[in-house]
Amino acid sequence: MYLRKEVGGETQQNQNTNEYFEKGKMQKMQDAFCKANHLYCVCIGRDLTQITEFSGGAEEESYLNTLLTPEMKSELIHSFSDVEGENVIAMPTNSPFFMLRGVAIRGEGYRFMGAWMVLGIDAEQVPEDAYIPRSVMTTTREALDKAIALLEVLTNTYFTNKSQLAILEEDLIAMEKEERRMEYLLQKTEVLTEILKFMESEEPFAQVIDDILSETGKYLGNSNCELLKITPDEETVELVCEWADTEEHLIGERIKGMKQSDFPFMTGRTYTISSDTIVPEPFMEYFAAYGIRCGAFLPININGKTGMYLCITMMDADRKWSVEDIRFINDIKRVVQTILIKRVTKNSLASSYSALESILENTGCGVSVIDLQKATVLYTNDTYKNLSMKPEERATLEELFLKEQDDLAEEFYAEESGKWYELSFSSMEWVDGRQVRLVTIYDVSKTKQYQEKIEHQANTDYLTGLYNRMRLEEDLKEEIHTTVRSGGQSGILVINLDDFDNINDGLGHQAGDILLRNVAESLQRIDGISNCCYRAGGDEFIILIHNSQMDRMDTIIKRIRQIFSTPWQLDEKSYYCTMSMGVVTIPKDGVDPVLLLQRADIALHTAKSLGKNRVEYYNSEQHNSAVERLDLEKCLREAVEKGCKEFEVYYQPLIDVTKPEKPCCGAEALVRWNSPTMGFVMPSQFIPLAEYLGLINEIGRHVLFEACKRCKYWNDFGHPEYKVNVNLSVVQLMRTDIIDTIREALIATQIEPSNLTLEVTEGLAVNDMFRMQQVLREIKNMGIRVALDDFGTGYSSLNHIRSMPIDVIKIDRCFVQDIGDDVFSDAFVKSVSQLAEALDMNICVEGVEEEKQCHALGEMNVDMIQGYLFDKPLCVDDFERKYLF
Ligand code: C2E
Ligand code: CA
Ligand code: CA
Repeated sequence: MYLRKEVGGETQQNQNTNEYFEKGKMQKMQDAFCKANHLYCVCIGRDLTQITEFSGGAEEESYLNTLLTPEMKSELIHSFSDVEGENVIAMPTNSPFFMLRGVAIRGEGYRFMGAWMVLGIDAEQVPEDAYIPRSVMTTTREALDKAIALLEVLTNTYFTNKSQLAILEEDLIAMEKEERRMEYLLQKTEVLTEILKFMESEEPFAQVIDDILSETGKYLGNSNCELLKITPDEETVELVCEWADTEEHLIGERIKGMKQSDFPFMTGRTYTISSDTIVPEPFMEYFAAYGIRCGAFLPININGKTGMYLCITMMDADRKWSVEDIRFINDIKRVVQTILIKRVTKNSLASSYSALESILENTGCGVSVIDLQKATVLYTNDTYKNLSMKPEERATLEELFLKEQDDLAEEFYAEESGKWYELSFSSMEWVDGRQVRLVTIYDVSKTKQYQEKIEHQANTDYLTGLYNRMRLEEDLKEEIHTTVRSGGQSGILVINLDDFDNINDGLGHQAGDILLRNVAESLQRIDGISNCCYRAGGDEFIILIHNSQMDRMDTIIKRIRQIFSTPWQLDEKSYYCTMSMGVVTIPKDGVDPVLLLQRADIALHTAKSLGKNRVEYYNSEQHNSAVERLDLEKCLREAVEKGCKEFEVYYQPLIDVTKPEKPCCGAEALVRWNSPTMGFVMPSQFIPLAEYLGLINEIGRHVLFEACKRCKYWNDFGHPEYKVNVNLSVVQLMRTDIIDTIREALIATQIEPSNLTLEVTEGLAVNDMFRMQQVLREIKNMGIRVALDDFGTGYSSLNHIRSMPIDVIKIDRCFVQDIGDDVFSDAFVKSVSQLAEALDMNICVEGVEEEKQCHALGEMNVDMIQGYLFDKPLCVDDFERKYLF
């Protein structure tokens, strides 16, 4: 049973893959998805292991297993690839009603981690005599495809966030670890430096050792440190010094009078015993007697003979000595030994130097000892010598050794080697009695790197790598400050993509993400602004133009416009996406960051409401119009909420010029807003805003119903040939329910479908030809006619006409103005009309105002004319008075 967990053979699971999946959550998501969509699903890892359980009952599972072969499953998984490539794969199956799809789950760097295998039964394809258990759910191909699209989005969102988080988490853990290590090292050196100072102390021996033991104990956090001495008779043991963290942990009194043989560690060897070390009987007894859990015992030799023991023990808690601990304890032993030797032998210089050297070599950081008076370096350890630095950098560093004050910490950046060092200075007496400076040098580059990385992450937008809004706010403050101080100028450009939601909804978030990344990259390539581009959220980008670049502001804006004038490459297809921009200058438009961004926003909105794809500079009138816009927006919303009654439909006659008497053959429905507060508003003043706010759907529906109702009335009252044209905006076409809405209008008004013409622009076709064709075809299947509006403007191309199911081409007004005089306009209209004839389409020319133009068009194979020459758009009463009776 291959839908169940694999047994044997493939049980070797890929650790990474397994960790990547959170099976519980995925199972829940999968079960809900299957139930809601009448599908079956299971998740398979890239190594063919099964990640989730089959959603559905045993009967359903065993039935589906009769349709799905193991080969299909492995072929499906192997069809996905790590690099680019499909995220959804439709597998051919052996039966017409069994549908099998794979949806890829991708990890970091697009790596293929596994896939959902989705199984469905197409109810429309099941033959009558086929046996399917009753429990098995069925669906349709269309529903399956919709569900798959949803699953793709869900998967993407879920796993993208997840891998992003995982990377961040890993980084944080690594950074914390590194910081802990650094902290530990620093602390250790501090203690060691402190202890080294005792070496030259003139205090009595016991006093010095006392200090050392207490420093050691406090640093290690252990319970007891003691120095035991063997009497010259080599029999009894004496306590020299003792330190304990609490009164109860002092054991000196108890060992009084004990013999060397009573101490199991007094063998002349070193013992470092952790709590989990298995120790011989004598140690066990000794530990038990004093409540010791673990300890380090080190012999101290003078002239080749063990005279003392350094004991460091832990009493209340368990401990495992780390390598660092042991190294430290050994250093302490050496210090004690040196002091002892120095006191014992009068000529201590040589031995003390070698002891010191061995300690300094082991501190783990770079050490340099400086004779300040002679300004020379007395000693450096190997770590210091091996620091990777250029000679010049080393020279600069060593200059610092002489300059700085004691007890100071300082950072040093070796630019060429790209390394950061932390220096600390302290003074001490050198072995020969000279006063010297001890400099310790740490390589803190790693810590720095992590710090920078964290800062970077807090300041950047993960999708595009641009700085984010947080960083913008900081930089903007700084920029305003410098601009005002220098008396110069700087600027802010706010860029918003036009109709980005269409791409996101229509092509999926993945395409949207790619577009945003492409935009970010292109913006950064513009000279002079590569470092001041920000993604302020969603599809909004902000550019700060520095004081020094202000004379290039126009050039920069021009370059940005150029970027958006060519199509974007998404999924190997070209998509057009324009932008609108608002511009403010500092200090002219203000010196407060919040105010400036608000004003840039106002300018941006002006650009949007003037029809998008343009740049607007802020001015105070806009401010008023921004207030107006807010009013307009409020009224528009209210008008829609109140049921669109304020929107009146006007009709402009369409004239049939193929007949000698040039009769009216119908009308284009054009909306006007008769607002009690705003007055009579023309479509150019509110349609872009209505599209932007999504209100166009309601308004458009209202116009469609009104126009169809009117046309049906004309058809019933003497003009069965009249047709009505209704404009559909791209926003409406993008909606999945547009077909339902149109069907409702046909049913509600009973209009003859062939008398309705829907006018569309190419807006959607440029970016999603497939979808445009699909929607138009469905419209045509209902018997409705389609007109391509405003032809010749925007992105129109002759290719589009050929590949779209169109009945009428409406040539834009701008070609009519000079018709008869302008060679280009003439040639354009002529060639389009020829093409139209060849493709069996009709031509309608808009905006004819003069007899002369009409005459010129007479020679050009045009079918219909619309323009002020015949009539302006008329209110319904006027239209019917003139053209109906
Ligand atoms: P359009 O679809 O290109 O409509 C033709 C526009 O040209 C109309 O402007 C019309 O009054 C104007 N026009 C017609 N003949 C002449 C002429 O001889 N000279 C001049 N100068 N203009 C002429 P209107 O009514 O202001 O509509 C503007 C645009 O608003 C329309 O352009 C259309 O894109 C949009 N619109 C109007 N009603 C609707 C609607 O119900 N839904 C949608 N989505 N858009 C609409
Ligand atoms: Ca139109
Ligand atoms: Ca038009």
